[in-house]
Amino acid sequence: MSLDHHTLEIPANLQDLLITKSEAIYRNVRSSYMKVGTPELIFMATSTADVANVVQYVAKLKKTDEHLAFSIRSGGHGMSGSSTNQGGVVLDLSKMRTVELIDREKKLVRVQAGADWGTVAKALAPEDLIISSGNFGDVGVGGLAASGGIGYFTRSHGLTIDHIKAVVLVTADGTVHTVDATHEPDLFWAIRGAGSQLGVITEFVFEATHLQSDTKDAAVIYQRLTYTTDDVAQFVTDWGKWATAAPREMTSFLMIQKAGVGSFNISASNVWSTTDTVKATPVLEKAAAIAPLIEHNATITPYPTIIPHPQSEHGGQQRIQIWNGLIDKADQQLGEAIAEAFKNPLTLVMELRSIGGAMNDVAVEETAWAARYQEAFVSVWMMPGEETEQTKAFAPIEKLSTGVYGAYSSNTSLAMADKAWPGQTGERLRQLIARYDPQRLFNQGIHL
Ligand SMILES: Cc1cc2nc3c(=O)[nH]c(=O)nc-3n(C[C@H](O)[C@H](O)[C@H](O)COP(=O)(O)OP(=O)(O)OC[C@H]3O[C@@H](n4cnc5c(N)ncnc54)[C@H](O)[C@@H]3O)c2cc1C
Repeated sequence: MSLDHHTLEIPANLQDLLITKSEAIYRNVRSSYMKVGTPELIFMATSTADVANVVQYVAKLKKTDEHLAFSIRSGGHGMSGSSTNQGGVVLDLSKMRTVELIDREKKLVRVQAGADWGTVAKALAPEDLIISSGNFGDVGVGGLAASGGIGYFTRSHGLTIDHIKAVVLVTADGTVHTVDATHEPDLFWAIRGAGSQLGVITEFVFEATHLQSDTKDAAVIYQRLTYTTDDVAQFVTDWGKWATAAPREMTSFLMIQKAGVGSFNISASNVWSTTDTVKATPVLEKAAAIAPLIEHNATITPYPTIIPHPQSEHGGQQRIQIWNGLIDKADQQLGEAIAEAFKNPLTLVMELRSIGGAMNDVAVEETAWAARYQEAFVSVWMMPGEETEQTKAFAPIEKLSTGVYGAYSSNTSLAMADKAWPGQTGERLRQLIARYDPQRLFNQGIHL
C-alpha cells in the first residue's frame, strides 16, 4: 500500500524537512546505491529532535497502514537496498555528518550517523587515529556501525561495533535514549550488531585507536598483489595457512575473479596495522610467495589513501546481489567450496577476508554480533536473477558457513537473519524488539 502526500497532513515541525516527488531535488535522494526508489515522502533530518518527530509521525501513519514501508538512510550503501522503498517514507540522515574529537586523551570521537567512513578516516588521520571500519569510504557510519564493520583492521583492532562507547538512539515511540554500558545496558548490547532493528541511531561515540605510526598520520603498511592461478582451491588453502598464521597486525582482503577458462586473477589488499617494517617484511614476503604474481607493491601510506571515497550520487547503480558467510576455517574445504561456487555462471566475483584476531577476543554474549570464532569472511557477488538460482550458486558456501553478516547481505530472508542472530542472541534480540518496537516500525532490510 502506498501513501499519497497530497492527502496527508504533514505536521508543521516536519514541513521544512520534506522532499516530495514534485521537487527537482527528489531525483538526487530517492534512490540508494543498490536500488532505485520511489518513496512518497522523504524527510531530511538535521538533528536528533527531527528524527524523533519523524519517527512519531510515521508511527502514527503506521497505525492505519501496517504495511507502510519506513526506510532509514545514512550513507545509502545498504546491500539490500533497504534504505529506500516504493511508496513509503524515507528518513535521511545524510545532513547529520559531524565528526568531532571530543576527548583527545581518551581518544573519544563523536560521529553523527550521516557521515561516511572516508570523511571519518580523513578527519582522524592528522591525530594519528583510526576507527576500525570498512574498506569503502562512501559507506555510511549509521548502517555499518549499527551492524558490524569488517575492514582492514579487523584482526588487529576488531569490529567497528567493538569500539562503540555510547549512542543516541531514537526508538519507535519517538523517545530519545542516550545509551552506554551503564545506561540501558540491554539497548547498548543490542545496538552493537543489531542497531537497525531497535531504532534510529543519530550519533555514536567511538573510542578510536592510536596507530603510533612513524609518520604520525595514521600510516599503515599496505601491500597490493595480483596473483594468477589455475587452481583456485589450492590458492585459497595456501592463502588460508598464511593468513591465519600471520600476526594479528595483518588483515588480508582478496577479490577473486575468473580470468579465462579455469584460470583466476586474485587481487589482494593486505594491511599491516603499524609501520614496523622489520616485523612486517617476512610476512609480506610469504604473501608474495603464495602463487605467481602479475603485480606487487608495498608502501607505507596514510590509512585514508587506501579507502576509495568517490562520493558518488546514488541512482540504484549497483545491481549485483551479494550473499555472505562467516566460515570457521580458512582451509582446503573452503578452497574447494570457492572453486565449486565459481562453476555456477551466476557467480561473478568472490571476496575473501581474513577475520578473527581481536574480533574474536570479545565474548559471544557481550554484543548482538554472535560470530566470534570464525577465521574467514566470504561474499559471493552474483548476477541479478531468480532467488532459487542464487541459492544454488551460494550453496557451496552456505554448507560451510556458521554465521552471516546481516548488513552485508542482499538476501534478507528469515533463514539468513536466523544465521546472523542465532540461538540466545536471537532470543534476547526478539525480546528487546517486542519491548521497544512492538509495531515493527524498523522492519526494513534483514531482520528477525
Ligand atoms: C560498495 C560497498 C562496500 C562495502 N564495504 C564494506 C566493508 O568493507 N565492511 C563492512 O563492514 N561493510 C561494508 N559494506 C556493507 C555496509 O556496511 C552495509 O551495507 C551498511 O548497512 C551500509 O551503511 P549505510 O549507512 O551506507 O547504508 P544505508 O543504505 O543508509 O542503510 C542501510 C540500512 O542500515 C540501517 N541504518 C542505516 N542508518 C541507520 C541508523 N542511523 N540507525 C539505525 N539503522 C540504520 C537501516 O536498516 C538501513 O536500511 C559495503 C557496502 C557497499 C555497498
